[in-house]
Formats: sequence, C-alpha cells, structure tokens
Amino acid sequence: MKVMLLGAPGAGKGTVAKLLTALDGSVQISTGDILRAEVRAGSDLGKKAEAFMKAGDLVPDSLIMDMMEKRLQADDCRQGFLLDGFPRTIPQAEALKKLLAKLKIDLDMVINIDVPREVILDRLCTRRTCANANCQAIYNVKSNPTKKEGICDKCGSPVIQRDDETEAAISQRLSTYNAKTAPLIGYYEREGKFRNIPCTSSDDVVKAVKETLGL
Ligand code: ADP
Ligand code: ZN
Repeated sequence: MKVMLLGAPGAGKGTVAKLLTALDGSVQISTGDILRAEVRAGSDLGKKAEAFMKAGDLVPDSLIMDMMEKRLQADDCRQGFLLDGFPRTIPQAEALKKLLAKLKIDLDMVINIDVPREVILDRLCTRRTCANANCQAIYNVKSNPTKKEGICDKCGSPVIQRDDETEAAISQRLSTYNAKTAPLIGYYEREGKFRNIPCTSSDDVVKAVKETLGL
C-alpha cells in the first residue's frame, strides 16, 4: 500500500504504521525516526536539524524534501510505504505532489487519525523511551509501564523522556501542529482519496484502513 498518515503528535501514527507494515510488507517512512538517526550519527543533516527538533519546531522544508527525495527512491519502497510524519506543511505537500508525479508514484489513500486533544496531551506526557539507541522501546508510565521502574524490560538501559517530550516542548509541538500541519487536512480533502478516522485505538484505525483499501 502507498498510504499517508496524518494526525497530531501522539495520535499514534507510528504505532499504526508499524501494524500496517505487517499486512503487506510495505515500509514505514518516519521522518522523525530518520532525523533522530541523523542526529545520533552526527551527520551534516543531523547537525542542522537538532536544534529545531529539541525546541519542538519543524526542520526546514528544503532539508526534509532532499531527504525524502532520496528515501522514496530506495528499493524497499517499491512494494509500498507508509508516510509517517511527512508532509508536515503545505509547502511540503506541494513539493511532494511534484515529487510523486516525477517518480510516477500514486498514493492509495491519505488517512487522518483524529484523536481528541486531551487524550493526546495525556499520552505525550506519560510516554517514555529506552535510552539505548539500538533498542528505543516505547513505554507509557500509565498504560504500559516497565516492570522495574525506569529500566527497559528488553535491554536493561534506563528509560527516559525524549528531549521533545517535556511539557514545554510538547505544547510547542502541538501549537506547531495546529498552525502548520492541521491545514493539510483541508488540503487533502480537496485533493481527494482522503479519509478521516476518529479512533483512539490503533487497532481500530488499522481495521478502518483495511476496510478502506479492501484488504
Ligand atoms: P511527533 O510526530 O511525535 O511530533 P516525530 O518523531 O514525527 O514526532 O518528529 C520529531 C521532530 O522531528 C519534529 O518535532 C520535527 O522537529 C522533526 N520533523 C519530523 N518530521 C518532520 C517534517 N516532515 N518536517 C519538518 N520537521 C519534521
Ligand atoms: Zn531498551
């Protein structure tokens, strides 16, 4: 499948994307994950992106488009892909439209995962991530705690709050989302092949996507 997932930070795009990859071998393309890997690797792109990310601001469109132009041409995308966290702005959406036309790729569907703001806030503040870069297991202090407080079940490393998951950065990410990314909903409604899925459970979102695509 060739699907774009829209939704606020914390709406569950990453979780849904992972569940969908298991259905047909499509790959998850998370711009956030790619950027975090670049920051860890200390690459040029990583150095440019780091400060924006820490503050909960968006990384400039030109950097993201260069990165995605390469990513979408990798062999593993031929089978299908799930765009998770991209596009994030109207200029990115316009540039993506041109890029897809150039690469002769047709998207099957644009999905908006629509989760109430209170649920999102609660989820983001309680999320914890394993500090070990090779593990990165995700926990939640309320709904999915580690067995031993603060220690990853899988690898024994400390679990931490991501730099951009402090209260200040979260509220910045949500206002960035409202100002820059939420307008994509109207944009893709007009473009067609758009579906809004108002579900807080990732399994329900996956069910709705399967139905829509006839899987
Ligand atoms: P979330 O969706 O939970 O905010 P992500 O992991 O998708 O987190 O992204 C983390 C950070 O990476 C964002 O706050 C932003 O700084 C940067 N980022 C990710 N994707 C994009 C994008 N398409 N355009 C600009 N910045 C991005
Ligand atoms: Zn771990």
